[in-house]
Amino acid sequence: TTKQLIMSEKLAAIGEITAGVAHEINNPIAVMQGNLEVVRQVMGERADDAKTEFRLLDEQIHRISQIVTKLLQFAKPEEYAGFVERHAPAQVISDTLPLVQHLLNKTGIAVERDDRAERLVLMNRTELQQVLVNLIVNAVHAMPDGGTLTLKTSDSDRDERAGLLLEVADTGVGMSPDLLAKVFDPFFTTKRREGTGLGLSISQTLISRQGGKISAVSEPGKGTVFSVWLPEAS
Ligand code: ADP
Repeated sequence: TTKQLIMSEKLAAIGEITAGVAHEINNPIAVMQGNLEVVRQVMGERADDAKTEFRLLDEQIHRISQIVTKLLQFAKPEEYAGFVERHAPAQVISDTLPLVQHLLNKTGIAVERDDRAERLVLMNRTELQQVLVNLIVNAVHAMPDGGTLTLKTSDSDRDERAGLLLEVADTGVGMSPDLLAKVFDPFFTTKRREGTGLGLSISQTLISRQGGKISAVSEPGKGTVFSVWLPEAS
Protein backbone atom coordinates (compact mmCIF):
# COMPACT_ATOMS: atom_id res chain seq x y z
CA THR A 1 0.00 0.00 0.00
CA THR A 2 0.99 3.66 -0.37
CA LYS A 3 1.28 3.99 3.40
CA GLN A 4 3.74 1.08 3.54
CA LEU A 5 5.74 2.54 0.67
CA ILE A 6 6.06 5.91 2.35
CA MET A 7 6.98 4.13 5.58
CA SER A 8 9.73 2.08 3.93
CA GLU A 9 11.09 5.15 2.09
CA LYS A 10 11.16 7.02 5.37
CA LEU A 11 12.95 4.14 7.04
CA ALA A 12 15.52 3.97 4.25
CA ALA A 13 16.16 7.71 4.64
CA ILE A 14 16.43 7.39 8.41
CA GLY A 15 18.81 4.48 7.85
CA GLU A 16 21.13 6.53 5.63
CA ILE A 17 21.21 9.48 8.02
CA THR A 18 21.67 7.19 11.02
CA ALA A 19 24.55 5.31 9.43
CA GLY A 20 26.27 8.60 8.59
CA VAL A 21 25.85 10.01 12.08
CA ALA A 22 26.91 6.76 13.71
CA HIS A 23 30.14 6.63 11.69
CA GLU A 24 30.83 10.26 12.63
CA ILE A 25 30.34 9.51 16.33
CA ASN A 26 32.64 6.48 16.27
CA ASN A 27 35.84 8.50 15.71
CA PRO A 28 35.51 10.96 18.60
CA ILE A 29 34.57 8.06 20.87
CA ALA A 30 37.78 6.24 19.96
CA VAL A 31 39.76 9.45 20.61
CA MET A 32 38.09 9.89 24.01
CA GLN A 33 38.77 6.28 24.96
CA GLY A 34 42.45 6.56 24.02
CA ASN A 35 42.97 9.85 25.84
CA LEU A 36 41.23 8.65 28.95
CA GLU A 37 43.71 5.79 29.13
CA VAL A 38 46.63 8.26 28.69
CA VAL A 39 45.31 10.52 31.49
CA ARG A 40 45.00 7.51 33.78
CA GLN A 41 48.58 6.48 33.08
CA VAL A 42 49.96 10.00 33.51
CA MET A 43 48.18 10.29 36.86
CA GLY A 44 49.78 7.08 38.04
CA GLU A 45 48.83 6.31 41.65
CA ARG A 46 46.80 9.50 41.92
CA ALA A 47 44.34 7.98 39.45
CA ASP A 48 43.02 5.98 42.41
CA ASP A 49 41.60 9.21 43.89
CA ALA A 50 39.28 9.46 40.90
CA LYS A 51 38.43 5.77 40.64
CA THR A 52 34.68 6.34 40.57
CA GLU A 53 34.96 9.11 38.00
CA PHE A 54 37.14 6.96 35.75
CA ARG A 55 34.73 4.07 36.05
CA LEU A 56 31.80 6.32 35.14
CA LEU A 57 33.66 7.74 32.15
CA ASP A 58 34.54 4.22 30.98
CA GLU A 59 30.96 3.05 31.41
CA GLN A 60 29.39 6.00 29.63
CA ILE A 61 31.83 5.87 26.71
CA HIS A 62 31.10 2.16 26.44
CA ARG A 63 27.39 2.88 26.48
CA ILE A 64 27.67 5.44 23.66
CA SER A 65 29.67 3.01 21.55
CA GLN A 66 27.09 0.28 22.16
CA ILE A 67 24.30 2.59 21.03
CA VAL A 68 26.29 3.53 17.94
CA THR A 69 26.89 -0.14 17.12
CA LYS A 70 23.18 -0.83 17.47
CA LEU A 71 22.31 2.13 15.28
CA LEU A 72 24.72 0.98 12.58
CA GLN A 73 23.36 -2.52 12.77
CA PHE A 74 19.87 -1.16 12.32
CA ALA A 75 20.80 1.23 9.53
CA LYS A 76 23.09 -1.09 7.57
CA PRO A 77 22.17 -4.64 8.52
CA GLU A 78 23.76 -6.07 5.37
CA GLU A 79 27.20 -4.82 6.52
CA TYR A 80 26.81 -6.95 9.59
CA ALA A 81 25.68 -10.16 7.91
CA GLY A 82 27.92 -13.02 8.96
CA PHE A 83 28.35 -16.72 8.11
CA VAL A 84 25.26 -18.82 8.51
CA GLU A 85 25.65 -22.27 10.02
CA ARG A 86 23.42 -25.06 11.24
CA HIS A 87 22.68 -24.92 14.93
CA ALA A 88 20.76 -26.90 17.50
CA PRO A 89 18.72 -24.10 19.10
CA ALA A 90 18.97 -25.60 22.61
CA GLN A 91 22.76 -25.44 22.36
CA VAL A 92 22.67 -21.79 21.30
CA ILE A 93 20.40 -21.03 24.27
CA SER A 94 22.80 -22.84 26.62
CA ASP A 95 25.69 -20.79 25.25
CA THR A 96 23.73 -17.55 25.54
CA LEU A 97 22.49 -17.90 29.13
CA PRO A 98 25.91 -17.28 30.73
CA LEU A 99 26.00 -13.87 28.98
CA VAL A 100 22.91 -12.75 30.88
CA GLN A 101 23.29 -14.81 34.06
CA HIS A 102 24.38 -11.81 36.16
CA LEU A 103 21.15 -9.99 35.25
CA LEU A 104 19.05 -13.03 36.13
CA ASN A 105 20.80 -13.43 39.48
CA LYS A 106 20.51 -9.75 40.35
CA THR A 107 16.72 -9.70 39.99
CA GLY A 108 16.09 -13.21 41.29
CA ILE A 109 14.69 -14.71 38.13
CA ALA A 110 14.25 -18.47 37.82
CA VAL A 111 14.93 -20.05 34.45
CA GLU A 112 12.85 -22.92 33.15
CA ARG A 113 13.73 -24.76 29.98
CA ASP A 114 11.82 -27.08 27.74
CA ASP A 115 13.93 -28.27 24.83
CA ARG A 116 11.99 -30.37 22.38
CA ALA A 117 13.35 -29.25 19.02
CA GLU A 118 15.16 -31.94 17.09
CA ARG A 119 15.59 -29.94 13.90
CA LEU A 120 18.45 -27.53 13.22
CA VAL A 121 18.24 -23.85 12.28
CA LEU A 122 20.32 -22.09 9.67
CA MET A 123 21.56 -18.79 11.02
CA ASN A 124 24.58 -16.76 11.96
CA ARG A 125 25.43 -17.80 15.49
CA THR A 126 26.17 -14.31 16.85
CA GLU A 127 22.98 -12.98 15.34
CA LEU A 128 20.85 -15.71 16.85
CA GLN A 129 22.52 -15.06 20.22
CA GLN A 130 21.84 -11.37 19.79
CA VAL A 131 18.15 -11.99 19.21
CA LEU A 132 18.01 -14.22 22.29
CA VAL A 133 19.87 -11.66 24.41
CA ASN A 134 17.48 -8.91 23.28
CA LEU A 135 14.46 -11.02 24.18
CA ILE A 136 15.90 -12.17 27.51
CA VAL A 137 17.02 -8.68 28.56
CA ASN A 138 13.55 -7.34 27.73
CA ALA A 139 12.02 -10.15 29.79
CA VAL A 140 14.31 -9.25 32.70
CA HIS A 141 13.31 -5.58 32.44
CA ALA A 142 9.67 -6.67 32.53
CA MET A 143 10.25 -8.55 35.82
CA PRO A 144 11.86 -6.00 38.17
CA ASP A 145 10.64 -7.96 41.21
CA GLY A 146 11.70 -11.34 39.90
CA GLY A 147 9.69 -14.07 38.23
CA THR A 148 10.16 -16.93 35.84
CA LEU A 149 11.83 -16.88 32.46
CA THR A 150 10.78 -19.84 30.32
CA LEU A 151 12.80 -20.83 27.27
CA LYS A 152 11.27 -23.38 24.93
CA THR A 153 12.29 -24.94 21.67
CA SER A 154 10.13 -27.19 19.51
CA ASP A 155 9.77 -28.42 15.95
CA SER A 156 6.94 -26.60 14.25
CA ASP A 157 5.57 -26.35 10.72
CA ARG A 158 4.15 -23.13 9.36
CA ASP A 159 2.41 -22.67 6.02
CA GLU A 160 3.52 -26.23 5.13
CA ARG A 161 7.15 -25.35 5.77
CA ALA A 162 9.21 -27.34 8.25
CA GLY A 163 10.68 -25.19 10.96
CA LEU A 164 11.38 -24.56 14.61
CA LEU A 165 9.87 -22.41 17.29
CA LEU A 166 11.90 -20.63 19.96
CA GLU A 167 9.82 -19.13 22.74
CA VAL A 168 10.91 -16.67 25.41
CA ALA A 169 8.24 -16.19 28.05
CA ASP A 170 8.22 -13.97 31.12
CA THR A 171 5.88 -13.52 34.07
CA GLY A 172 6.37 -9.77 34.00
CA VAL A 173 4.36 -6.59 33.57
CA GLY A 174 2.94 -7.56 30.17
CA MET A 175 1.68 -5.14 27.54
CA SER A 176 -1.61 -3.62 26.46
CA PRO A 177 -2.68 -4.30 22.85
CA ASP A 178 -1.77 -0.66 21.98
CA LEU A 179 1.76 -1.07 23.27
CA LEU A 180 2.16 -4.52 21.74
CA ALA A 181 1.28 -3.08 18.33
CA LYS A 182 4.31 -0.77 18.46
CA VAL A 183 7.09 -2.89 19.96
CA PHE A 184 8.70 -3.80 16.63
CA ASP A 185 8.77 -0.16 15.46
CA PRO A 186 12.31 1.21 15.26
CA PHE A 187 13.09 3.63 18.13
CA PHE A 188 9.93 2.75 20.03
CA THR A 189 10.81 2.42 23.70
CA THR A 190 9.14 2.86 27.07
CA LYS A 191 12.52 2.79 28.84
CA ARG A 192 13.49 6.39 29.28
CA ARG A 193 17.19 6.27 29.94
CA GLU A 194 18.24 2.73 29.15
CA GLY A 195 16.22 2.08 26.01
CA THR A 196 17.14 2.56 22.37
CA GLY A 197 13.97 1.03 20.97
CA LEU A 198 16.09 -0.91 18.50
CA GLY A 199 16.36 -4.34 20.12
CA LEU A 200 13.17 -5.77 18.69
CA SER A 201 13.35 -4.07 15.29
CA ILE A 202 16.91 -5.37 14.82
CA SER A 203 15.79 -8.83 15.98
CA GLN A 204 12.97 -8.74 13.47
CA THR A 205 15.37 -7.77 10.67
CA LEU A 206 17.78 -10.58 11.55
CA ILE A 207 15.04 -13.20 11.80
CA SER A 208 13.22 -12.22 8.61
CA ARG A 209 16.51 -12.25 6.71
CA GLN A 210 16.65 -15.99 7.51
CA GLY A 211 13.09 -16.44 6.29
CA GLY A 212 11.71 -16.51 9.82
CA LYS A 213 9.11 -14.60 11.79
CA ILE A 214 8.97 -13.05 15.23
CA SER A 215 5.76 -12.29 17.09
CA ALA A 216 4.47 -11.73 20.59
CA VAL A 217 1.41 -12.29 22.73
CA SER A 218 1.00 -10.50 26.02
CA GLU A 219 -1.36 -9.93 28.88
CA PRO A 220 -0.99 -6.90 31.16
CA GLY A 221 -0.01 -7.97 34.66
CA LYS A 222 0.54 -11.57 33.58
CA GLY A 223 3.46 -11.61 31.19
CA THR A 224 4.60 -11.91 27.62
CA VAL A 225 5.62 -14.64 25.20
CA PHE A 226 7.88 -13.80 22.27
CA SER A 227 7.96 -16.48 19.56
CA VAL A 228 10.64 -16.82 16.94
CA TRP A 229 9.88 -19.16 14.06
CA LEU A 230 12.74 -20.18 11.80
CA PRO A 231 12.73 -22.55 8.82
CA GLU A 232 14.53 -25.85 9.28
CA ALA A 233 18.05 -26.02 7.85
CA SER A 234 17.83 -28.45 4.94
P1 ADP B 1 14.22 -1.22 24.25
O1 ADP B 1 14.35 -2.48 25.06
O2 ADP B 1 15.51 -0.51 24.05
O3 ADP B 1 13.13 -0.30 24.74
P2 ADP B 1 13.05 -2.97 22.24
O4 ADP B 1 12.84 -2.76 20.77
O5 ADP B 1 13.81 -4.19 22.64
O6 ADP B 1 13.77 -1.65 22.76
O7 ADP B 1 11.66 -2.97 22.99
C1 ADP B 1 10.70 -1.95 22.73
C2 ADP B 1 9.67 -1.86 23.86
O8 ADP B 1 8.85 -3.03 23.88
C3 ADP B 1 10.25 -1.78 25.27
O9 ADP B 1 10.64 -0.47 25.62
C4 ADP B 1 9.08 -2.29 26.11
O10 ADP B 1 8.13 -1.28 26.34
C5 ADP B 1 8.41 -3.30 25.20
N1 ADP B 1 8.78 -4.69 25.55
C6 ADP B 1 9.66 -5.48 24.90
N2 ADP B 1 9.73 -6.70 25.46
C7 ADP B 1 8.87 -6.70 26.51
C8 ADP B 1 8.46 -7.67 27.50
N3 ADP B 1 8.99 -8.91 27.51
N4 ADP B 1 7.54 -7.30 28.41
C9 ADP B 1 6.99 -6.06 28.40
N5 ADP B 1 7.33 -5.11 27.50
C10 ADP B 1 8.24 -5.42 26.56
